[in-house]
Amino acid sequence: MQSLKELYKIGNGPSSSHTMGPKRAVELFRNKYNNATKFKIILYGSLALTGKGHLTDYIIRKVLSDYECEIIFDEETKCDVHPNTFDIFAYNNDEIIDKWRVYSIGGGTFKVEGEEEIDILDIYKEKNWSEIKSYCKENNIDLYEYVCSREGENIKEFLTEIWNSMKTTINNGLNSSGTIPGKLKLQRKAKDIYEKKMENEDNTLRRTRLLSAYSYATSEENACGGVIVTAPTCGASGVLPAVLYYMQNEYNISDEKIVKSLAVAGIIGNIIKTNASISGAECGCQAEIGTACSMAAAACSYLLGLDINRIENSAEIAMEHHLGLTCDPIYGYVQIPCIERNAVAAMRAVDASFLSIMLEQHTMVSLDLVIETMYETGKDLQSHYRETSEGGIAKKYCRNKFYNKEMKE
Ligand code: SF4
Repeated sequence: MQSLKELYKIGNGPSSSHTMGPKRAVELFRNKYNNATKFKIILYGSLALTGKGHLTDYIIRKVLSDYECEIIFDEETKCDVHPNTFDIFAYNNDEIIDKWRVYSIGGGTFKVEGEEEIDILDIYKEKNWSEIKSYCKENNIDLYEYVCSREGENIKEFLTEIWNSMKTTINNGLNSSGTIPGKLKLQRKAKDIYEKKMENEDNTLRRTRLLSAYSYATSEENACGGVIVTAPTCGASGVLPAVLYYMQNEYNISDEKIVKSLAVAGIIGNIIKTNASISGAECGCQAEIGTACSMAAAACSYLLGLDINRIENSAEIAMEHHLGLTCDPIYGYVQIPCIERNAVAAMRAVDASFLSIMLEQHTMVSLDLVIETMYETGKDLQSHYRETSEGGIAKKYCRNKFYNKEMKE
């Protein structure tokens, strides 16, 4: 497994695979061929179908703003290797200088066909949860100590930067109002939810209000193209910060401890990224929101002082009950169902953590097994449920809208 630095990335939303990954790849290509006269990009699969809503063309044009740039949305060609595929060509007048085929594999990470991943080392010897758990038990260390043993002590500095960035995003979101860009004309809600303390609000309502407000805050910043941390992706970036922020404020937890819990969450995300997928285009929303919920549940359990078995159980519960979750963003915007879904997953993460305390016996399903199941389920999902906006709510909403409009006319 790679470093947590390859999982948590600070960047602009709204999509790690549709904006962050293509941006990084196109920047690298542009820097290599900065004497080119023109660039051409052909987007395939999910990038072609939801690229406009996810601002893929916007970000590519921005990176290539000093050059002539042609972008083609090819919705017909099938790409077997990965649904988020694009070709990029550099030209010297009419002559092609070079071409890359790029796979944007989720979380802002990309691979260039035929090229080895350079500079990205597998620094973790252990490949799955069971190996990590055994190592921690044999060496009598907790998960944070395990991460430090593999990454080096400077990981603390990196995770502190990540936590500070998450807090800034929440505060920005809580202090913003207005309309989110795009034709849905959604109004930001985080501030209202946060300030709308209900009469006779009990602890349950308070928890719902705060977790939702924090998670809306990040998700709305993401939908507006603001700066967020991939956790593990842009679309699912609201879940983990909301849970950590809630836990910090409610339980008076230090920044230092929160930073350690980010390492615990990161290990869960890393295992899923390595052994399955964190890409909605590859495995549906279970791979994004399911993973985020699993990471947040593990972090929450760590903050509650639960042992490694309970941490596993909470992460497993959180993923198990997202199995089969489809990705169906309306018009391709990371807004509906995404923003609300982040809030629900944040609540579920805390619930999964508390449930793990009540389930005194080990559960019958291991974390590794549920991750394997998620991957297999994702591969079985029909393509219209994997970030194409051709199925689910995206399809129904557009049909109803068309039908209602026809009825009125
Ligand atoms: S439905 Fe889920 S996976 Fe799809 S864009 Fe929204 S958050 Fe991402």
